[in-house]
Amino acid sequence: MSRIKRALITGSTSGIGLAIAHQLAVAGIDLVLHGLEPQVEGDKLAEAFHKQHGVEAVYVQADISESDTIVQMMAQIEAQVGPVTILVNNAGIQHTAPVEQFPAEKWDQILAVNLSAAFHTTRLAVPAMVAQGWGRIINISSVHGLVASVHKAAYCAAKHGLIGMTKVTALELAAKGVTANCICPGWTDTPLLVEQFKAFAREHNTSYEDAKQGLIKAKAPYPDFVSPADIGQLVLFLCSDAAKAITGTSMPIDGGWTAH
Ligand code: NAD
Repeated sequence: MSRIKRALITGSTSGIGLAIAHQLAVAGIDLVLHGLEPQVEGDKLAEAFHKQHGVEAVYVQADISESDTIVQMMAQIEAQVGPVTILVNNAGIQHTAPVEQFPAEKWDQILAVNLSAAFHTTRLAVPAMVAQGWGRIINISSVHGLVASVHKAAYCAAKHGLIGMTKVTALELAAKGVTANCICPGWTDTPLLVEQFKAFAREHNTSYEDAKQGLIKAKAPYPDFVSPADIGQLVLFLCSDAAKAITGTSMPIDGGWTAH
């Protein structure tokens, strides 16, 4: 059986997910793009990928905070284009607040999107990967899967949990040609950080642009944001044959943040 390389990247309409999609498309990997944007917008994005890179690309709209929706989404993908053999669990959300003020509904939502969704896509994608004896599961965790920061109880819990789930998946699939790894980015300039930039600017009475630099300096010795394209390159490497023995790992790409 020839090896199918078709990647589902959750949350690939913006930020890191979109950059990952570009890097995989450049390498000729067919794409299933995903997000919350309306179908018509997603279809335009998929068409642009097809035109630019010559790969097959489709878009699915699904709110993955609900497990039933994920089941429907995975069935729809299988029926529409066939099985997914590269799964990039990237969709994520953030909310910051001290633990005693952390809204319970925000906790539930962050755990659902940042952790449980990855469990459901994984369990539904694994059978096809095992059937063809090759597959790649790449979970976008965070430095906050490895270390903590204040006001991020739910995010840190979800991202640490994702690393644990990834390790178990790796152990179970290591002899079946399927690897599972986490990538742990540091500050990356995407819409996810907008509220944190604003909060930093308010707290330090500084401009939005200075807040960006202030946040970087507060955590990482490398004096710039992580590039989304560089994260995409790391995903692409993990999809290569050279990475066949890399499994169960959590790879920081964080400008030295977690070296402290
Ligand atoms: P982003 O806001 O640009 O992208 C998040 C994506 O997730 C969007 O496409 C959004 O539509 C999707 N999404 C959110 N909720 C969803 C839901 N309920 N159903 C379906 N899709 C949903 O942010 P980003 O920074 O590109 O984040 C991508 C991943 O990278 C996240 O998991 C995030 O935690 C992680 N990360 C980001 C940083 C950073 O500094 N930006 C650092 C470490 C890890």
